[in-house]
Amino acid sequence: MVGVFPCFDVNTTLKRGIPVVLLATHETYWNTANMLKPLFLLLCTHFLSVLSTKHVAATSTSSKTDTLRLDLIHQLSSTNVATPRQLEQLLAAALQRAQQPDLAPVVVVGGGLSGLTSALRLLEAGAPVTLVDKRLFWGGNSAKASSGINGGYTTNQKNLGIDDSADQFYEDTMACSGRTNGSLTERLIRRMSDDSQRAVEWIEQYADVELPDVGQLGGHSNARTHRPRNRLAGAAFISGLERAVLKYRKSGLLTVLKGHRMVKLLPVEQTTGKADDLEPEPDQDSSPSPPTGLWDLHLEVVGGSPVTVRASAVVLATGGYANDKGQDGSSLLKEVTPHLMTLRSTNGEFATGDGIKVARELGAGTIDLDMVQVHPTGFSDAPTGFKEDPNNPNSPLVLAAEILRGVGSVLLNSKGERFVNELQTRKFVVEQMKQTGEKQFVLVLPPASASKVEAHVNIYTGKGLLTPVEGLEGVAQYVRTRLHGQSEHIATTFATTTDGTHPVPRNRPTSLPKTGTYHVGVVQPVLHYTMGGLAVDTEGRVMDTSNVPMPGLYGAGEIMGGVSGIVELWNCGIVGLCCCCCCWGWRKSGCCGWLLWLLWMQ
Ligand SMILES: Cc1cc2nc3c(=O)[nH]c(=O)nc-3n(C[C@H](O)[C@H](O)[C@H](O)COP(=O)(O)OP(=O)(O)OC[C@H]3O[C@@H](n4cnc5c(N)ncnc54)[C@H](O)[C@@H]3O)c2cc1C
Repeated sequence: MVGVFPCFDVNTTLKRGIPVVLLATHETYWNTANMLKPLFLLLCTHFLSVLSTKHVAATSTSSKTDTLRLDLIHQLSSTNVATPRQLEQLLAAALQRAQQPDLAPVVVVGGGLSGLTSALRLLEAGAPVTLVDKRLFWGGNSAKASSGINGGYTTNQKNLGIDDSADQFYEDTMACSGRTNGSLTERLIRRMSDDSQRAVEWIEQYADVELPDVGQLGGHSNARTHRPRNRLAGAAFISGLERAVLKYRKSGLLTVLKGHRMVKLLPVEQTTGKADDLEPEPDQDSSPSPPTGLWDLHLEVVGGSPVTVRASAVVLATGGYANDKGQDGSSLLKEVTPHLMTLRSTNGEFATGDGIKVARELGAGTIDLDMVQVHPTGFSDAPTGFKEDPNNPNSPLVLAAEILRGVGSVLLNSKGERFVNELQTRKFVVEQMKQTGEKQFVLVLPPASASKVEAHVNIYTGKGLLTPVEGLEGVAQYVRTRLHGQSEHIATTFATTTDGTHPVPRNRPTSLPKTGTYHVGVVQPVLHYTMGGLAVDTEGRVMDTSNVPMPGLYGAGEIMGGVSGIVELWNCGIVGLCCCCCCWGWRKSGCCGWLLWLLWMQ
């Protein structure tokens, strides 16, 4: 049997051993005696689904939502019911109404940077959000991002006297993309570069992190990759946004589901709003109408039974598939780039393209799925303290961040030769690596550069990935030992690189003196980033194979295909996803439920 607060005397009812379901408004809940609050939530949790609990316990300030809840309560509490069965029927109908679009939360799937950013923007706007992640902690690959975030013309650039612009960022990205004007990629790049300044400044503010250092990386005509001074960018962004998002927990607007893996997504057909077990009205039309933007997410739970969560809109932010090598036949990498299957990956084992697969089953379009980026510099060694089997082909390798080359590092082959302009695009550097016929290379960070990337050097050295060696001779010895070559050209390489006469000039010169402390490590090409993904329009809406937006389905972050075209410009990963989702607001629409709007992108 159920009871409705405040009409029932809760204590008396409970003493009689009768279960109670409490429905309450914001005010009612907070006016409940403190002692009763845990009981209130416990009972709600016990009797209602996760979603319903959210509605019941939610403390939204939206007047519409409160009115609706008051309406439910009024309906239940003012009805004369003769039997428990009648009350149950009424409650069932009320709960079904509570799951209608007006009240169901937006479910954000993925707790990486794009998921946290989307969630925060939605919460800020007052929308109830359920944030789902298959792992027990948030961060995804975003937590590993180490070089920084690109911005077109930020205050930090201005302060440093860097004369950049959104247009210049757009031109650089277009030049790498290989795409033409009017293509989806071109439209996405336009939006990304136009919004990049606000994205960088937004993340500074909301993740509470300063980005005073701005570096110039491959393919960019200007210094525009922003990074914190003493921390790695991704970890700083994630910890800051995590704090900001979790502040909403108390309000009841945020529900966190960790260890919940989305396995299926099903559109909900519109029904008449009656509970299934109620007697149908004679004139009731029970035939379902087409999907309305409501979704049911099927989630597998770590150590628990599967659950289904209803959503008024879904933001897919499950990241890319650069470690999707599964043997179960579902590997996207095997499907689209079988020739890359032997390469190791910098991505965590969770990067299996789940959102793409789930949406594709529903008829979502995809773009550039075979555009998988190989990064030239993954550290070949397993980091100190690494618990996994380093020979497991799915265990990730640590990235040697681009910024190392950005601040002056060079790459050497076993003869001690430089063979590429290290500031070229990743694709080009990898091609030149292949040309050497060798599989591993030595990354050499010159003495004067180490202080510019102190945080990186400390972390990599601490993990045993970079080794300090003394002078030219120390580097030569390292090359001989680790690459099993003679390093016979190393003296010439050092001299000509320093005086600028080396046949392969760098975009920006670097100096390799004979003495001083160098930091060296062995690197190899690795799978790193997937440029392909779901076809998502400039407003973040997932499109079907006919380019028609699918109601209530959104994509954010690396899951979005097409933003890069065929070559990703260095470090557009984060700004791409920030632009495409830190700008999300939402608005409500009577028939479609929560509708996400990319406000900055209008
Ligand atoms: C080592 C490394 C360094 C990088 N450095 C930079 C850089 O300096 N600058 C830059 O711009 N870009 C960088 N990138 C790229 C950038 O980090 C990523 O493109 C970006 O972080 C992706 O963010 P995301 O939120 O889309 O996905 P992620 O951060 O990967 O988050 C995806 C989340 O979804 C969850 N998830 C996946 N499947 C499911 C499911 N079925 N159900 C529930 N949850 C699920 C995962 O557990 C994960 O938490 C780097 C990438 C790597 C790997």
